[in-house]
Amino acid sequence: MANPIYADFHIHTHFSPCGKPQATAEAMLRRAQEKGLAAVGFADHVTPDPIAGCAFYDRQRPCIMADLRAEIAQVADGLDLEILVGMEADYTIAGRACLNPAVVAQADHVVCAASHFHLPAAPQFSGDGPRARAALMLRLAREALEMPGVSIWAHPFHCSRVRPLLPILETVSEAELATLIALANERGVAIEVNGAAARDEGYRLATARFFGLAREMGARFTLTADAHSPECLDRLDLVLEWAYALGLGERDLLTALELKERHKRKATADAPLQRGFPG
Ligand SMILES: [Zn+2]
Ligand SMILES: [Zn+2]
Repeated sequence: MANPIYADFHIHTHFSPCGKPQATAEAMLRRAQEKGLAAVGFADHVTPDPIAGCAFYDRQRPCIMADLRAEIAQVADGLDLEILVGMEADYTIAGRACLNPAVVAQADHVVCAASHFHLPAAPQFSGDGPRARAALMLRLAREALEMPGVSIWAHPFHCSRVRPLLPILETVSEAELATLIALANERGVAIEVNGAAARDEGYRLATARFFGLAREMGARFTLTADAHSPECLDRLDLVLEWAYALGLGERDLLTALELKERHKRKATADAPLQRGFPG
């Protein structure tokens, strides 16, 4: 009994360098259906151009979305699932070059990360203290939210390089969090509740204030297992439990229909303005 709000828009496949070989479209879709999802959004790591010093993105050209669509077409027959093929953009590593109108037009939705500090070529923290880390995370998040075409803010503040997270986020004022959340709302960007991040109790503790404030401010949310293999989709149980603990309900969650409408609006309205895109 698939629940129409029960969707995961951040699913990786073998087309991601971190995706497991067994993360075929067929295996991921099968597991998604077993988990009772009504909609899935694939979001492999994609960036328009190779990134100097970061081999992770060497093969992550936008054409992998077309390759994945072709793979899905072979196996999706008879599946009762809404399927989106989008991408995870990486503002952390590529900055404003992480998206352009042509790439946005190829995607069904764009999940954008601003906290991939573990990858080579990531921006460096200007100092050791927690505030220096917080300041960089806040700036990257703000700039990522301003990027045309972005519909979901991937795993806010989550990275193995910013642990323990609590003392870092304790340097962030409520006003600073509220500014980011207001920007997300204004830009039509949903905030992701991420099951990979949620495995870490430190992350859940550190971000409870942020998610609580976002809920109070009327933000919209997405839930994801951030799966890189079929069995990772089991993290949906954990993330759903955490979302309920945060006080999130069905009305707070973005549906596949809303996501598609948002993306269409962004791909057509944002793109001609070229605002925020590198020349
Ligand atoms: Zn990944
Ligand atoms: Zn990510």
